[in-house]
Amino acid sequence: MKLDFSDTGWARVVAGVVGGTIFCIAVALFVESFNFHEMSEERFRYALTVNILLPMGLAAPLLFLLLTKMRQLAIAHREISIIASTDSLTAVLNRGAFKMLVDAYLKQAARQPALTAGAFLIIDADHFKAINDRFGHQKGDVALRIIARTIEQSLRHGDIVGRIGGEEFGVFLPGTGLEQALVVAERIRLQIDEAEFPPGAAAHNLSVSVGGATFDQYADYDDLFRIADESLYSAKGSGRNQVMFNSLAA
Ligand code: GH3
Ligand code: MG
Ligand code: MG
Repeated sequence: MKLDFSDTGWARVVAGVVGGTIFCIAVALFVESFNFHEMSEERFRYALTVNILLPMGLAAPLLFLLLTKMRQLAIAHREISIIASTDSLTAVLNRGAFKMLVDAYLKQAARQPALTAGAFLIIDADHFKAINDRFGHQKGDVALRIIARTIEQSLRHGDIVGRIGGEEFGVFLPGTGLEQALVVAERIRLQIDEAEFPPGAAAHNLSVSVGGATFDQYADYDDLFRIADESLYSAKGSGRNQVMFNSLAA
């Protein structure tokens, strides 16, 4: 999930100021129009000028101030919700936001059988405690960022990734079957295995184990997590740096 700050809302402020000012001028002219018939030509021109210039002088700055404040509030609100759902170390979703999004997809899928398929991965760094012990906690943090970036780069738009534990990431691949999910998981595993760590040295210490669960019927988050976690346990037991999958039993 990419964060997008490009829409800063200035177009809406300008549209609001222009539209609001025109509206105020129209209202002023409408009210004044009841007196037009009894005005001299000179008085009519004066009234027209006043009813156009007054809203422009008063309404436009007031609207600009109001809409600018509303724009600032909207940006602050958006930033707060992004911060609240993002893991500060790796910039992927945090555990709560990840679960919320996956839950939302699964609930929608329950109503639309065509969406009821997908894969859930748990990606857990191997021997991460040893990496911290050997290189220090700060380099350990660097390793977590490398893992997060590598996972993100392997996913399509619409896939969901979150940090669901200390050195553990969750990935949800909507609409993806076993064959394709295996390809994605294997690509992630291989790219992390080949990542340069620590940066600048080619020590090749990083690896992950991947546990996967696929489903083609109604599933909830806890079902998928349990099956993926069992697969992960098998991958760890088979020597780590491996991908293992299980399907949700009918
Ligand atoms: P396994 O291959 O069985 O998964 O072994 P492991 O050492 O990775 O697993 P274990 O659960 O024993 O240790 C996880 C380690 O991850 C311990 C903890 O200090 C480290 N860790 C958790 N969160 C962070 C973090 O935010 N930064 C760093 N640097 N380390 C972290
Ligand atoms: Mg681990
Ligand atoms: Mg772990």
